Amino acid sequence: MTATAAADRFAVAAALREIALLLEVKGGNPYRARAYQRGAAAVEALAGDLASLVAEDRLTQVPGIGAALAAQIAELHRTGRSSTLERLRAELPPGILDLIRVPGLSVDRVTALHRALGIRSVSELKAAAEAGRVREVKGFGEKIEKKILDGIAALAARGQTLLLNEADRAGEALQAWLAASPHALRVDVVGAARRRGETVEQIELAVAARDAEAVVDHFVGMPPVAAVVEREAGRARVRLADGIHASVEAVTLAEHVPTLVRLTGSPAHYAKLQARAEAQGLVLSERALTARRGRSTVALRDEAALYARLGLQYVPPELREDEGEIEAAAAGTLPTDLLEEADVRGLVHCHTHYSDGKHSVEEMARGAEEMGMKYITITDHSPTAHYAGGLTEDRLKRQWDDIARAQEKVKVRLLRGTESDILADGALDYPDRILEQLDVVIASIHNRYKMDEDEMTRRLVRAMRLPVFKVWGHALGRYVRTRPPIACRVEEVLDAAAASRVAVEINGEPRRLDMEPRWLRKARARGLRFVISTDAHSVRALQNFRYGVSMARRAGIRKGEVLNTLGPDAFLAAVRPAQ
Ligand SMILES: [Zn+2]
Ligand SMILES: [Zn+2]
Repeated sequence: MTATAAADRFAVAAALREIALLLEVKGGNPYRARAYQRGAAAVEALAGDLASLVAEDRLTQVPGIGAALAAQIAELHRTGRSSTLERLRAELPPGILDLIRVPGLSVDRVTALHRALGIRSVSELKAAAEAGRVREVKGFGEKIEKKILDGIAALAARGQTLLLNEADRAGEALQAWLAASPHALRVDVVGAARRRGETVEQIELAVAARDAEAVVDHFVGMPPVAAVVEREAGRARVRLADGIHASVEAVTLAEHVPTLVRLTGSPAHYAKLQARAEAQGLVLSERALTARRGRSTVALRDEAALYARLGLQYVPPELREDEGEIEAAAAGTLPTDLLEEADVRGLVHCHTHYSDGKHSVEEMARGAEEMGMKYITITDHSPTAHYAGGLTEDRLKRQWDDIARAQEKVKVRLLRGTESDILADGALDYPDRILEQLDVVIASIHNRYKMDEDEMTRRLVRAMRLPVFKVWGHALGRYVRTRPPIACRVEEVLDAAAASRVAVEINGEPRRLDMEPRWLRKARARGLRFVISTDAHSVRALQNFRYGVSMARRAGIRKGEVLNTLGPDAFLAAVRPAQ
């Protein structure tokens, strides 16, 4: 029941969001579009079962859902369709949702271009702008035409790339939708999202099905599908209304394990598996592992059985990149104690409304407690980060009082900390007498990103060598999609860190994911210890630690190498700033 309910919920919400967007494009009463947005959020957040709310006519009891919206939701729930959505799609140019994603193109401009030139898609727009026809439309001109072309180029460069958290959200919704098909036996998200890459180009799903074509029909019939890009036997690829691409492959239950392995590993990983099969007189084909002679199919209970049949240890999805994991699995040296989410016992690197966080100390603590954590470190910004509300000594001490008060109300241990700026000369932002009174110090760079490599390396080496124990926060300052890492000689800094009192942060904020796995491996090789951090600026973002765990696993980091797998006392002893 829960799978069906969840599918309905997400699919209904997606349709409501599309209606809101199209209403906005159409113009008219702005409150109507907003009502649909609110309705979508309310449906996504429903605690109860949508089916019974609809059946018992109780939708209007949900805050944010009025009578008109309730009727729409009931229609969507019962039929999987919405007459309002279909009318809007018919009224507006089909490519409208793509067009308004072009930077510099407002809804008004899209409408004007549609009326004047009949433009319905980004490719038509591009052709018109290149032909100089856009500048002739009233209210446009040469400058805007150029801006539109730049916007199209930027959009093409960015593509549909999703951050890992966006991919997870989309993947879960699609998985729930597919699981609701009576013909689906098992649904898995595969591809880059399962390997936990920092970015994901498209959501890929593998389904074990009673009837593969019926599952593919169910997939292409989802309300959020804007276009079916490809369809062939047992497979389909679609574009959703929000621009995300998704694909499904449906096979029989007996074919599911080889399909999972093929769709999860990188092409190079999979090619090596095929070569190993070959060497053992087997054939690993698209949907089966068979004996070369006699052609009998090897029955496979799960992926571990397939790896075992090839003489390999089980390779976790995060390691299936052909970066030496197959050789290690053959030699039996693949780690069996890779970090897992359940190993993390404390949430590190959390901001509150003292600096630029959204919630209070107590709210963050309760959030951590609800997640079953044993401790949480409160680490707001230091004075130099004034734009982020960095704390003066006075305000830091006031926060200590607040922490003490919150501690009386919760069981989770509250630790006093800071995210101290690494200043331009490599010093930290508070004097030692303050740092020594803290439980944990995260040291991060927040300004002067553009120093040259020599200067930046010197700055970081100096910071690493400070006698105070510190966690090197979001080490290279990159944003996955938008900001390159700082220029420095990373290995030289890691050498200094390894010789000093430092742990390396694995920042789980999905936009950062810093350091990235290739550098984490270098840190690990030097015997450095790690901290999985949330860099949470809200209670909800405490969940970020999961993405940190994913990066750690990709880097082959073991439970015993991560300090916040320790209990509160051992963690405190390990990170105490004073010697
Ligand atoms: Zn920071
Ligand atoms: Zn931070």
